[in-house]
Amino acid sequence: MAVTDPRVDARPVWDDGTWAPLPSLDGDVRADCCVIGLGGSGLTLIEELLRRGQSVVAVDATDVGAGAAGRNGGFLLAGTYDFYHDAVRRFGRGHAHAIYTATLEEIGRIAVATPEAVRLVGSKRIAADASEIDDCRAQFDAMRADGLPCEWYEGPEGSGLYFPSDGSFNPLQRCRQLARRVQHGGAILYGASPVIGIEGTRVITPGGSVQAPQLFVAVDGRLERLLPELAGRVRTARLQMLATAPLEPGAIPCPVYFREGFEYWQQLPDGRVALGGFRDRGGESEWTVDGTPSLTVQAHLERFLRRHLAIDAPITHRWAASAGYTSTGLPIVEEVRPNVWALGGYSGTGNVMGAIAARAIAAAAIDGEADRVTLFRTPTRAVG
Ligand SMILES: Cc1cc2nc3c(=O)[nH]c(=O)nc-3n(C[C@H](O)[C@H](O)[C@H](O)COP(=O)(O)OP(=O)(O)OC[C@H]3O[C@@H](n4cnc5c(N)ncnc54)[C@H](O)[C@@H]3O)c2cc1C
Repeated sequence: MAVTDPRVDARPVWDDGTWAPLPSLDGDVRADCCVIGLGGSGLTLIEELLRRGQSVVAVDATDVGAGAAGRNGGFLLAGTYDFYHDAVRRFGRGHAHAIYTATLEEIGRIAVATPEAVRLVGSKRIAADASEIDDCRAQFDAMRADGLPCEWYEGPEGSGLYFPSDGSFNPLQRCRQLARRVQHGGAILYGASPVIGIEGTRVITPGGSVQAPQLFVAVDGRLERLLPELAGRVRTARLQMLATAPLEPGAIPCPVYFREGFEYWQQLPDGRVALGGFRDRGGESEWTVDGTPSLTVQAHLERFLRRHLAIDAPITHRWAASAGYTSTGLPIVEEVRPNVWALGGYSGTGNVMGAIAARAIAAAAIDGEADRVTLFRTPTRAVG
């Protein structure tokens, strides 16, 4: 059952309400490249395409940052969905290290590109129980052995790890900044234009179509809806959050994730606390393309806020969004049909990975650097 409380804002806490909606597509247009999806990945991709001299038309079902990219937890975390030691086991040491290094570099790029939206304050992984403390130790040992930034943490939040190179950001603010920038650079962006068909590289929306020799589908959640051939490889889940009225700023110095990342929270510069999680406690019904909050998960979040975090401030926002999950833990970044490229399925970690995927796919599609997307392939022989 959905949550409906008129006193609570259904928009993400990141929305300052100042954005003027994009026009919708009306008629048939042409460009060198068409991008579907105006989240962080699609917008980074548009920047990369413009940089390569391509003309770009982009469409979104709703507007800039209307999906997970503008409705997420705002964590900028290095690495993959798997913790580093797990990634080493799964992908091999060299590959896991290459991905981790790429994400560290990308966090730096994001901070330089949109400094107003980003705070490089680090992040913490806090163990929920004794066995997770052991797992944190294994992660600590693996990261230190490979020279990656990680410190042991004991403090008010519990025991675990501190990652000094991570950060947090206002994801919607970043999307909107990127959108203004690419518009200024010549990209034509349309909102309220859901794609209802893809014929070759031609994109059909209710108001018109876009014909372009290269098509890029930059959609994380619901990717399998637009490209049904990906249905066995990516699955859409709903992730939910809430936010509170402001507390004394500085109570939570940096983003925290808990219980292997299922729960995550941070305090914003204005003192509000944003908390997400409990996807697994919602059961099978959280595997859905429905992006509205549910009573079950929101009740878990509220209980955790009151009991575990001991925060009694009123809840002002409750929201949800869709994210794509893959069984490999690596996103889909590839040409799925001739001249149709897909990027998505970040398994809840697309803020940094989505930007890397966008850069890789632009290099592969436009510059012919096919090897740039191999970072996202599971190596056939993972060696520890
Ligand atoms: C609640 C929540 C918390 C999260 N927290 C974090 C976090 O802290 N750190 C992290 O790294 N990741 C997090 N994630 C995951 C992360 O937000 C996503 O992986 C990332 O934002 C995906 O961005 P994107 O641009 O690839 O796709 P999306 O944001 O999914 O953008 C896709 C866009 O495509 C549009 N679209 C969809 N279907 C169509 C269609 N048919 N036609 C036209 N347009 C369409 C949508 O409107 C949307 O704007 C979280 C996700 C959620 C939901």
